[in-house]
Amino acid sequence: MMVALVALAAFASGIVYCSFFEWTLHKYLMHRPLLGFRYAFRAHAQTHHRIFEYEETYSLQRDEDKTLVAMAWWNAPVIIAANSPVWFGAGMIAGLGHFTAYFWVGAVGAACSMVFYYALYESLHWCMHVPGHRWFSNSRWFKFLDDHHRMHHKRPMSNLNVVLPLADLILRTKAPGLPPVSRMATEAREAAGVS
Ligand SMILES: [Zn+2]
Ligand SMILES: [Zn+2]
Repeated sequence: MMVALVALAAFASGIVYCSFFEWTLHKYLMHRPLLGFRYAFRAHAQTHHRIFEYEETYSLQRDEDKTLVAMAWWNAPVIIAANSPVWFGAGMIAGLGHFTAYFWVGAVGAACSMVFYYALYESLHWCMHVPGHRWFSNSRWFKFLDDHHRMHHKRPMSNLNVVLPLADLILRTKAPGLPPVSRMATEAREAAGVS
């Protein structure tokens, strides 16, 4: 029972952490070169944002641009490995400073939350830019997140979260003006044949 609670706490805290990590990475690495490191800026701000804009071009227009929706495959292991001090720290907290079973439960729980968050990021981001018939396309939470990200493509320094806009809310980067955007998102979904 205690093990399950520790795992759950590590996973839940990891998800909250990921919202802030996503926000930081997106703002400081993907929308500006940082200390001469330009890869993420080129791949995201100068490529993804140039192809996918706010209005009709928010949705995929040309099949050959499909490769510009998701991040490169190797970004996932690099990002998760770069966060190893965080899941190690979560393990240390869970094990109260000792390498007990709770250490591993805490560390694995936190690491799993990062894998889960990253997988959700790529899946949701794909569904936002490549409309289609999906069981969740008309759900309120997906429409909300889709509108949230569409607004990011209009104002790149706002709405920096894709999965969980908690950091946007707390760090006050959530853009206002959802109603007209929401209407456009609905039109895009209708154009894609999703009622
Ligand atoms: Zn996007
Ligand atoms: Zn962006």
